[in-house]
Amino acid sequence: MRLRIPIATATATLTAALICPMSAADAAAPTCSDRPVSDAQALEILAGVDQGNDTFYWRQDASLDVAVRAHPAVTAEYLSMIPQAVQTWQAVLEDCLGGAVSLRYVSGANSIATADIVVSLLPRPAGGVAFGGVARCGPRGCQNVMISTVVPPGSPYGDLSPAETYTMALHELGHALGLGHASNIESFDIMGYGGLYGDPPAFVLSQCDVDALAYVWSWALDGTGPTRPTDPEFECVA
Ligand SMILES: [Zn+2]
Repeated sequence: MRLRIPIATATATLTAALICPMSAADAAAPTCSDRPVSDAQALEILAGVDQGNDTFYWRQDASLDVAVRAHPAVTAEYLSMIPQAVQTWQAVLEDCLGGAVSLRYVSGANSIATADIVVSLLPRPAGGVAFGGVARCGPRGCQNVMISTVVPPGSPYGDLSPAETYTMALHELGHALGLGHASNIESFDIMGYGGLYGDPPAFVLSQCDVDALAYVWSWALDGTGPTRPTDPEFECVA
């Protein structure tokens, strides 16, 4: 069995749990209802989390361009996993949020400078820290996603396969869209850790994921102005 890389979480500062978390019954309705059900009990909502410097995990633009900054040693096979992950999310967003939120893969000159989300793909350990991926906000916005396919020498954890790189990109783009982790982190939901690894990985991009995104992006669905979510957790409905 493959050892799992402890993914650096984007959610470290979530504070007190809600007694009554937001649920699908309270949120804007997605335009799909036939996504598979995962074993996630609830999803953390990153979109309202304060990252300091007046920076939050949320966006005021619902048309998001995604670019890749790849190390020269990244192979074409690994590199192709990122646009595939973007296309997977885009198909789900189109189906389930009616195009109110969109992801678009961009490449070429100026793409990194102008993209809303930049995925850095590294075939080496990042800063000596063993993680599969991380999504962070910075002073200039929430554009920073990093995926490391190789762990440090001597690490007990395994490197990522191309299929696991694809799954990791789905997971980190989920963070970039505003979702945190499944409250039961061992979940096979794409926002848990249970489905990120394997051959093939056994993740579920679930109805709860899109229900929670409908909450995060309710202003885009409603056609109103950008509003930051306030609930730190979204309850999944079986
Ligand atoms: Zn994560």
